[in-house]
Amino acid sequence: MTFTATSLSVPAPATPAGDRQFEDMARAHVAGRADLAYRDEILDLVSWRRLADAGLWRAGVPERLGGHGGTWRDLALRLADVARGGGDLGFVLSLIAHAGLVRALTEYGTPWQHEHFLRPLLDGEVGATALTEPHGGSDVAAARTTAVAREAGGWSLTGVKDHITNAPVADRAMVLGRVPALGRRDITLFLVDLSGPGVRRGPAEELLGLRSSPTGALLLDEVPVPAGAVLGTPGDGLRTLYDIISFDRALYGLVIAAYLGPELDRAVAYTRERRAFGSAILDHQYVQGRLTDVRIIIETARATALAGIDALVEGEAEASLRCSVAKFVGSEGLVEAATHLMVLHGHLGYTRGPQAQVVQDALGTLIAGGTSDMQRKNILNQMLAARSR
Ligand SMILES: Cc1cc2nc3c(=O)[nH]c(=O)nc-3n(C[C@H](O)[C@H](O)[C@H](O)COP(=O)(O)OP(=O)(O)OC[C@H]3O[C@@H](n4cnc5c(N)ncnc54)[C@H](O)[C@@H]3O)c2cc1C
Repeated sequence: MTFTATSLSVPAPATPAGDRQFEDMARAHVAGRADLAYRDEILDLVSWRRLADAGLWRAGVPERLGGHGGTWRDLALRLADVARGGGDLGFVLSLIAHAGLVRALTEYGTPWQHEHFLRPLLDGEVGATALTEPHGGSDVAAARTTAVAREAGGWSLTGVKDHITNAPVADRAMVLGRVPALGRRDITLFLVDLSGPGVRRGPAEELLGLRSSPTGALLLDEVPVPAGAVLGTPGDGLRTLYDIISFDRALYGLVIAAYLGPELDRAVAYTRERRAFGSAILDHQYVQGRLTDVRIIIETARATALAGIDALVEGEAEASLRCSVAKFVGSEGLVEAATHLMVLHGHLGYTRGPQAQVVQDALGTLIAGGTSDMQRKNILNQMLAARSR
């Protein structure tokens, strides 16, 4: 059986408006700066601002809050467009870290928070979500960052957050901490202006891959947080958080599928050119098998991600489970796909270059956004909870 490049290449699904504005912008800006950002291990703030100016963050946000309306599916599809056009997975993971905060503020924010946090984030400031601490990230409820009430009102927040996407450059963050005075249910989400007093940042970490998405520490020393800067109800932070991170998880699956499309197209083109045993390597069935496996991964990641996002938009009980499935399928599938793409390029795939970078980037998605094992754990917890409902 002979495959053609056309039969394997991945058609780009249109955004609801039927345009490719953000894919084209990403191709014009993100793609051109990706190598530089990767080499210098920096977030491409030039492209970030261009995308924000074009209204990237306004999708899904109601018009009364400065958005363009629609649902979170619209924002998700735009991020997928950026992944497809830009070809820079790190950059897109930085966008996801910000997207979760935009959705959280929209869904749970007060008018004051909409004005002081959401609006600047829609306009191009950079957001971060700070959960992980030096002693661990999977068990978020074990956070040691602590808030005590200030005499002047509000809270004083102290602790260390580690490995936080965008931390070296972010303007605002949602920080998970605890308020011991509240008793057993004390996990609380604080909105912190990172230019304020008491905030220091660690240096950007040296990552194996995803180097265009800088991570680092946030060191909080008696940071004054106004009473109005608690997202949701004090003490109820975990419930709010699980909803917030569900969107991030589904986004991983969707952007991974979009990112892999052009990678697959390039691999098909390579296998048509490269020859072995008297024919193009594309004619060999094992090669075809690797290519079709990548396409199956793309289709599965996209379908499970959209199922998760739609469940969230509809407020379905199984939304969290579906979003964890999407994260698991997307990141595990990406690692498998990256290995196929590398092997298809033979020795060239193992030299330091584009194929090796895909492998290095892919591995990071097994950890960022919650490890695959934590997705399994959540899927089981949700299954058991559904049985007792
Ligand atoms: C590129 C990147 C970006 C990141 N960005 C952010 C960010 O923006 N914000 C943020 O807060 N964090 C971020 N992180 C941190 C990430 O969320 C944590 O690294 C992750 O949650 C795992 O935490 P840990 O590294 O402390 O590992 P640990 O929690 O110490 O876990 C170590 C191992 O034990 C396993 N494990 C732990 N408990 C269980 C269990 N109950 N059952 C089964 N296995 C278990 C884990 O799956 C893992 O394999 C980022 C990480 C990376 C790599």
